[in-house]
Amino acid sequence: MESVPPCQTRKKAIPEIMPARATDLVSLDAAAGTPGCSRPLFGLDSSALSARMAEIGEPAWRGKQLSEAIYNQSIAEISAITTLPKSLRDRLAAKGWQIGRPAIVQAFQSVDGTERYLIQCSSPTPAPEPAAGPLPFELLTVEPLTVETVWMPEGDGGDAGDDPGRGPDGDPNNEPRNNEHRNDVAKDWRRATICVSSQVGCAVNCQFCLTARLGLQRNLTAGEIAGQVVAVLDRQRARVGRDRVNLVFMGMGEPFLNYDNFMAAVRLLVHEVGLSPQRMTVSTSGIVPGIERFAQEPADIRPRLAISLNAPNDEIRTAVMPINRKWSIAQVIDAVQQVPLRPRERVTFEYVLLGGVTDRPQDARELARLVRRTGLPAKVNLIAWNPGPGIDYSMPQPATVEAFHQLLMDEGIHAFIRQPRGRDIFAACGQLKRTVEG
Ligand code: SAH
Ligand code: SF4
Repeated sequence: MESVPPCQTRKKAIPEIMPARATDLVSLDAAAGTPGCSRPLFGLDSSALSARMAEIGEPAWRGKQLSEAIYNQSIAEISAITTLPKSLRDRLAAKGWQIGRPAIVQAFQSVDGTERYLIQCSSPTPAPEPAAGPLPFELLTVEPLTVETVWMPEGDGGDAGDDPGRGPDGDPNNEPRNNEHRNDVAKDWRRATICVSSQVGCAVNCQFCLTARLGLQRNLTAGEIAGQVVAVLDRQRARVGRDRVNLVFMGMGEPFLNYDNFMAAVRLLVHEVGLSPQRMTVSTSGIVPGIERFAQEPADIRPRLAISLNAPNDEIRTAVMPINRKWSIAQVIDAVQQVPLRPRERVTFEYVLLGGVTDRPQDARELARLVRRTGLPAKVNLIAWNPGPGIDYSMPQPATVEAFHQLLMDEGIHAFIRQPRGRDIFAACGQLKRTVEG
């Protein structure tokens, strides 16, 4: 398998890997960005919007109108909400309210159709204390605050084998919404996956992951998490309820170390935007208190669960994921067993194949035993390690990946190989790291 050279900058790396259809940097709707937006409406749900309206003497149903405009019609400026009287729009603006939706400011396009975006959020805030212990590297201070989001037409962002088995029209949670304005542009994709970030950087020090090198810079707010999705849906002219768009919370950060904002974003995406939680998958490195809370969430709001297992036993897992010292494999599995799964739902175990470290035949057999012992309806997503500058692992040989996959299937395990997407633009798993070209 071709390996990415240890590159200093993306500009050097891209031409070597993607000679055709070059991308480079595309400047987008930066004007719609929201640096320093202090009163964003985006992120508030219908009832919070109604409360804001009531505070200024407006009827509560104005909140619903605002919600429709912001989340369904993707309107990014208050002045453009023509369902509100002009006098009300002016009053909102005079009081400092803005829609404040995160905006795509740069896009990188891969030869395989994947797009990686830098999305600008509101102004930076101080980083919270890392919950997973001290960071082995310095926190960076970067302005303006951007976060990374990835669009993968035709999958596979980790949803291999995840299709709920019903077409969008048969999915009761996917009723068409009032966003037909997104309907008029020809599209060259039939299904797609958006990979969403939950934090800027990450405090969990997985040894193979580029995002870890950033440390945790800050949690994203609910609006910043949901806003990535709405900004990308808008750019891609996706029609909620018609197009098969899956979300995977597998971008930068550990969603379960930003639990409240993450779940508030899911509620916005389900209740306001109209997406189905059955088309969402959240991935965690195994934050046990987070999994336990997640188990309490109602089924009509709870995304599917993926666990980054990444090793067949505690010894190897601790070496590649030091968080395993805090919560062992057995503790993680205990917590996962508390999650009440929906009919036909499976838990995903993600497994990064690190050449010579986790990709040996004995690892496959031990992994199969481990997965069987859990008694869970489960599937395994195999991810060939994606390289990153300064990370000292090697990619597995393609034949080794195939053999590992075959061994798991021979052992009766549902297993899929996740196809790497957007490696040439550093959009693949574990490669997201706030890229700012110099
Ligand atoms: N923090 C969460 C979600 C983001 S990481 C988690 O760890 O689950 C999403 C997935 O990418 C995880 O399964 C992680 O193990 C995997 N990953 C991280 N770095 C990778 C790399 N360099 N190559 C391949 N997969 C990687
Ligand atoms: Fe964080 Fe996930 Fe990367 Fe681990 S793999 S450092 S939890 S983003």
